[in-house]
Amino acid sequence: MTSLDDVRALDAQDPLAGFRNRFALPEGVIYLDGNSLGARPVGVAERLDSVVRDEWGEDLIRSWNMHDWINAPRRLGGKIARLIGANAHEVIAGESTSVNIFKALTASLQLNPERSIILSETGNFPTDAYMMEGLAVLSGGRIRQSLVARDALEDALSPDVAALLLTHTHYKSGSLHNMAELTAKAQALGIPVIWDLSHSAGALPVDLNACNADFAVGCGYKYLNGGPGAPAFLFVAQRHHERIFPVLSGWLGHARPFDFDDAYEPASGIDRFQCGTPAILGMAALECGLDIMLEADMAAIRAKSRALGDLFIKLVETRLEGFELRSPRNADKRGSQVSIAHEHGYAIMQALIARGVIGDFRAPDILRFGFTPLYVGYEDVWTAVDRLASIMQSGEWRQDRFNIRAAVT
Ligand SMILES: *Cc1c(COP(=O)(O)O)cnc(C)c1O
Repeated sequence: MTSLDDVRALDAQDPLAGFRNRFALPEGVIYLDGNSLGARPVGVAERLDSVVRDEWGEDLIRSWNMHDWINAPRRLGGKIARLIGANAHEVIAGESTSVNIFKALTASLQLNPERSIILSETGNFPTDAYMMEGLAVLSGGRIRQSLVARDALEDALSPDVAALLLTHTHYKSGSLHNMAELTAKAQALGIPVIWDLSHSAGALPVDLNACNADFAVGCGYKYLNGGPGAPAFLFVAQRHHERIFPVLSGWLGHARPFDFDDAYEPASGIDRFQCGTPAILGMAALECGLDIMLEADMAAIRAKSRALGDLFIKLVETRLEGFELRSPRNADKRGSQVSIAHEHGYAIMQALIARGVIGDFRAPDILRFGFTPLYVGYEDVWTAVDRLASIMQSGEWRQDRFNIRAAVT
């Protein structure tokens, strides 16, 4: 059995161990929820303080030029591009992932104006499906949403499909889709694919251009450590830029916003996918997270993430009973999280959080643990399972206080 000494030896050899002190985590907390809200980078409070006091407070509106606020969406887009295998001029930071999904769906429809189906899988992250529904309603019946089970996706590809929207790393199970293979199969039928990278960007190597991807979206506040509600991102392959009239045609996507023309003329390139004024405070925090991420070697992140997940599965299976693995056992097929199911999952997770191990719960029965290699170590995984074992042994999760559902789980 894996001992505490074994995991300490792994931490001692960890090439990423130095990144731990780049993040400010509370004393005594083992944070296994960086897949939902990344930890706070050291320095982000000082950076925000300076943006608020010096840039906003002193330089006021001049900061759009003096501090290059106006280029923040492009600049951050360029940094995100390096993490997802895109060119700098193919990614723009801003909005929420939900809104960027709408932008990508409406763009795909313009590439195939005669097609009527937008396709995704059942059990996808809800916002992806909900945004499709809204678009179908807006179309007055011309566009139809179709959701099919994961194993029926390939059969559902047809020349009537205008867009395939998939989440690369499944939010609940952590299962990975084969991006290169599915993109090629869809494109063989003329279907552009929109990859939702919310649980992939910053968690594992992604190579959008090597996969010939069309569109991608993702969150800034998960593995990119951009802070709560951080700006999201949108990738559009260069070959599509000039063919798309942005449906969310806001003034900052105009070719010359400061001409204040009555008529909209899209900017060239990725700039046309900007909409309104960027959220500068959010951009400033996100940039702190991105700068740390760009210092780390993505291959090392992936290797450690696989090892942490494998260790967790092994420890759960040797030390606990009554839990069922709901993530792929094979690390090749898994993102940077492991989900286990238990019928009392909610209460067990609350009891675990009370003991300083923070994961989360996804209905109806999943305890979800995210492994963020920049600030989670092998001993953390060992301790997390040790505390879970102790909670199961004592039965403390049965206490009433752990059985009251909060608004956010
Ligand atoms: C977290 C997540 C989102 C979140 O979308 P927001 O608009 O930022 O709330 C979207 N899609 C997936 C797959 C996610 O995991």
